[in-house]
Amino acid sequence: MLSWTCRFRRESAIESESPALVVVTNREPWLHRATVHGTVLRRTPGGVVSALDPVLRHRGGVWIAWGSGERDWDEAPDGQVPIPPRDPRYLLHRVRLTDDEVRGYYLDYANSGLWPLCHLAVERVRFYRQSWNIYQDVNRKFAEAILDCSVPADTIWSHDYHLALVPGLVRSLRPNQRIVHFWHIPWPPTTLLRLCPNREEIMEGLLGADVLGFQTEDDCRRFLDSVNQLLSHRVDMEQGTVDLEGRMVRVMNFPISIDTPFVAETAALPAARRLTSAIRRRVDQRDIELGVAVDRLDYSKGILPRLEALDMFFRRYPHRRGQVVLLQVVAPSRSDVPDYALLGEQVEEAVADLNQRWGTDGWIPVISIRKPLDLKRLASLYRAADFFLVSSLMDGMNLVAKEFVAAQLDQRGVLLLSETAGAIAELEDALPINPLDPEGFADTLEEAIQMPVAERAARLDRMRTRLEQYTVQEWAEDVLASVEMTVADAALGRILQARQQGRQIVWGLDVDGTLVEFAPHPDAVVIPGPLLDTLRSLHQTAHTPVLIISGRSEESLRALMGPQFPGLLMGHHGLDSAPETRDITPPDEWRGDFLGLERDWPGAWLEDKGPTWSFHWRGVDPSRKTALLETLAHLTERLTHPAFRTRFGNEVLDVYPLAANKGTALRGWLVRTYGPEWPSHVYPVAMGDDATDKDLFLAVGKNGLSIAVGARITGAALVLDSPAAVRRLLARASMSLRQ
Ligand code: UDP
Repeated sequence: MLSWTCRFRRESAIESESPALVVVTNREPWLHRATVHGTVLRRTPGGVVSALDPVLRHRGGVWIAWGSGERDWDEAPDGQVPIPPRDPRYLLHRVRLTDDEVRGYYLDYANSGLWPLCHLAVERVRFYRQSWNIYQDVNRKFAEAILDCSVPADTIWSHDYHLALVPGLVRSLRPNQRIVHFWHIPWPPTTLLRLCPNREEIMEGLLGADVLGFQTEDDCRRFLDSVNQLLSHRVDMEQGTVDLEGRMVRVMNFPISIDTPFVAETAALPAARRLTSAIRRRVDQRDIELGVAVDRLDYSKGILPRLEALDMFFRRYPHRRGQVVLLQVVAPSRSDVPDYALLGEQVEEAVADLNQRWGTDGWIPVISIRKPLDLKRLASLYRAADFFLVSSLMDGMNLVAKEFVAAQLDQRGVLLLSETAGAIAELEDALPINPLDPEGFADTLEEAIQMPVAERAARLDRMRTRLEQYTVQEWAEDVLASVEMTVADAALGRILQARQQGRQIVWGLDVDGTLVEFAPHPDAVVIPGPLLDTLRSLHQTAHTPVLIISGRSEESLRALMGPQFPGLLMGHHGLDSAPETRDITPPDEWRGDFLGLERDWPGAWLEDKGPTWSFHWRGVDPSRKTALLETLAHLTERLTHPAFRTRFGNEVLDVYPLAANKGTALRGWLVRTYGPEWPSHVYPVAMGDDATDKDLFLAVGKNGLSIAVGARITGAALVLDSPAAVRRLLARASMSLRQ
């Protein structure tokens, strides 16, 4: 369930515990449209939306996009819409663009400049200075929206050629933000990229990301080659990295996938099945081979060459007249760009010509549907097809081809797939076609029609298995895991570098929320065996002292880590290292207040640890937590004392002596152990997730490395997602440091 809005996320210290995913695209996933039945909220078609909507529904987060629906701003004047409306899973934050901005940024620069350039439609490319200026302004607008809707620990996932400058803009304002950018379309060869007057700014913008994703290996290689030739950064072609003065950008290949089970389930829905059966009855009655094609109306999709090839097919195989029908869905797209409007007319003319030339009484070879269809209808067409044509001249991936395979519940259809579509790398059992070789295309079509049923099924089986093994959710996980890897790599890189410089590594680690996840009760927390092994190995084998610095009492820490744990335990937020204050306890009159709260708020309880207390409310009914927080906020205003303080943590209010400070404890230990000159030869690595851990980060400062876990606190050099990520990093560090 959606629990926060963008504003709430920025201002709230409570709800933003775990880093959120912030997806940023040009096209909004849902728009408000005017229909004869009134305003409706509809999902928009297109590969990026089909891929990411399920990902965000699954993970939650924010989606920032241009609010392009004609009723968007009437329906949601603040630009924020919970999605999907009936059972919100994520928040859509719309960016408002003026008509001039839409023209300059979207229609001109992105779609009359970058799109044709990347799809090698060179003669269509035009770059105007004015539209470049607007493109920059709009990218800035998106970057501002990101800063508004996120906290520094969030992961920003921006997309595509519309927003190439966004990673660089965000990086310049938030150097430690995790940013991944995915480029969905092909990357052009460097010789052609030279046609873009702003190529360097575009590439520098993209290199603001930690990870830059492309659809294919070839795209990665071409991008790295462009950086190599046109910019002055060091490129490692083998490793796929670009070195930006110490910050490494990884250039990686992630072929986008689809929600395979969802497409299959959609094809199996009764309504879709009924439509498939109705279509099949009609074609079977007349012994017709039904071909289907589904595209946005775009010159890169090779719609005209496909019609030319069909013409060639009837010339070469005239007996097929009356036996084959192509049902093509041509969804209107970018109709305000002149090239697209013209293409619409050309396609209509070509269809009319073909039908006139080859049609007979009661039969025409091509039926065009010139409007977008929803997945239910598309899935029934996919399922009904005897063959499916994907004739792109140039295509980053082509999701339609994958959807067709996923919807083949009757194992009927043969896929003819252009060799220049990214999908060909994975769908090896498709029949490859060259859309610009009409004779070859026609012959392959004849081969498809003649393909025996068993072979069709075997090919589809192999392709379906592949798509089932790698769905869009896994794709998204892979992309996001690569960003975490980059952070972990950066951390490990700094630690190993310090080691190489002869500095002693020391670990200052918080426990709850850092090394391990929170449990409903502190006593229920268990340190996993492998983590204990790692910590032991770091302390003893790698000779890098491990200090566990926690708000727990020392007895509780000893019980948790076990009697054999060789590292150092510092309890009570470091109070143990200030023995002169050990015997004091929080003012007894405060106890009554907390016990009163315990009574009034079932699930809340006071943990009395002697010199420190913790008031926990993890177990309180979630709907009452905000009210409890308000009560606590009032209470803490009254609880003042010269020697004690209160501090809000992760569903806990800590009460502890002013003398207790994790940072002072760590620093004190470093001075005692290595002398006051420790910064010259010691490299402390501090990790924590809560307010009291900020003191650790301050103590470490620039003399070591600070790592925050989750999104609750700022002030650390790096941010890891979760305790699981911390455990992985420690395990890798122990392997490397042992050597
Ligand atoms: N699509 C749709 N309705 C249509 C035509 C297409 O919903 O009438 C969807 C289709 O299901 C697919 C996406 O649009 O998920 C097209 O993605 P693809 O990668 O094939 O092409 P792109 O539009 O990204 O160039």
